Amino acid sequence: MLRLLPEPGSIAYFGPPMSDPKAELMARLRAFEGKASSEPQTARFPVNVPMIEHWCDAMGDRNPAYLDAEWAAASPRGQMIAPPTMLQAWVMPGLRRWRDRPGAGSAVGSILRVLDEAGFTSVVATNCEQEYQRELVPGDVLRTSVTIEHVSDEKQTALGTGHFVTQHYSFRDQSDEVVATMRFRMLKFRPPEASAATPAPKPARPRPRPGITHDNRFFWDGVRAGKLLIQRCAACGRLRHPPGPMCPGCRSLEWDTLESAGRGEVYSYVLHYHPQIPPFEPGHPVALVALDEGTRLVADLVGVEPEEVHVGMRVQVEFNAVDDELILPQFRPLTP
Ligand SMILES: [Zn+2]
Repeated sequence: MLRLLPEPGSIAYFGPPMSDPKAELMARLRAFEGKASSEPQTARFPVNVPMIEHWCDAMGDRNPAYLDAEWAAASPRGQMIAPPTMLQAWVMPGLRRWRDRPGAGSAVGSILRVLDEAGFTSVVATNCEQEYQRELVPGDVLRTSVTIEHVSDEKQTALGTGHFVTQHYSFRDQSDEVVATMRFRMLKFRPPEASAATPAPKPARPRPRPGITHDNRFFWDGVRAGKLLIQRCAACGRLRHPPGPMCPGCRSLEWDTLESAGRGEVYSYVLHYHPQIPPFEPGHPVALVALDEGTRLVADLVGVEPEEVHVGMRVQVEFNAVDDELILPQFRPLTP
């Protein structure tokens, strides 16, 4: 039923319920939007060649537009420029000065404090977008002004529940022209509860399923039959895995399979700890196994402690039912 009028005795109020702490917090956060987030910053140094060279060293960038004055003078620009992505480096106040700065009264400081008090005590930078209006050249002196552009509603994220805070930076030169803008977004979030003495029972979650396609169906049919089948080019004999329609060596579309003896060695491996993905145990070893027949495949290692896994370890395939429906080829160390 569509109710057009408040019920008798009630008060027509269309805002959020006044006792809703989330709504109250949101109202406090929204009040920061559009405010200057801190005092304008002026660059400590003009755009300069030594800092550009250090930056290029660190980035491994040898672009002569940034580094070679003679080359740059003969280029259409007629002079050297600074790498655009150095933008923020010009106005960074330095760690020490940042800590000593009386920035506690800034809007961004206040907003972070409000979120801390509401339990969103962790912070992570999530993304940064820059737009460049013109290239910077040695001698330019930058100045920034920063505003709180947006505070999001409460969001569920993989890290925890939190609010995204977006700041908008405007970079101006010595003539007060905007040369670039930047959006910097961070997530203030409530860290997940520390695990209690008795860890909560893990939710039963199945292993991820292989994506079975026309190209790899033979491999998974083979696994169900207890065979490790490797695709082999019928024209040149080259083995390939993962399976695909065409030989990368001779481009033939013809292929058959070779049944591998399932022995090989660990060519490389990872121990997977983070992020935790049930049902995998922390430290779950995943290996790139070099088969004796001459191709490699990725598979779980079983029957070995994470710290015992090493490159060159001899392994043998086995076919294990990891649940009611799924059989996987897994590798176990061969005991000499
Ligand atoms: Zn081939």
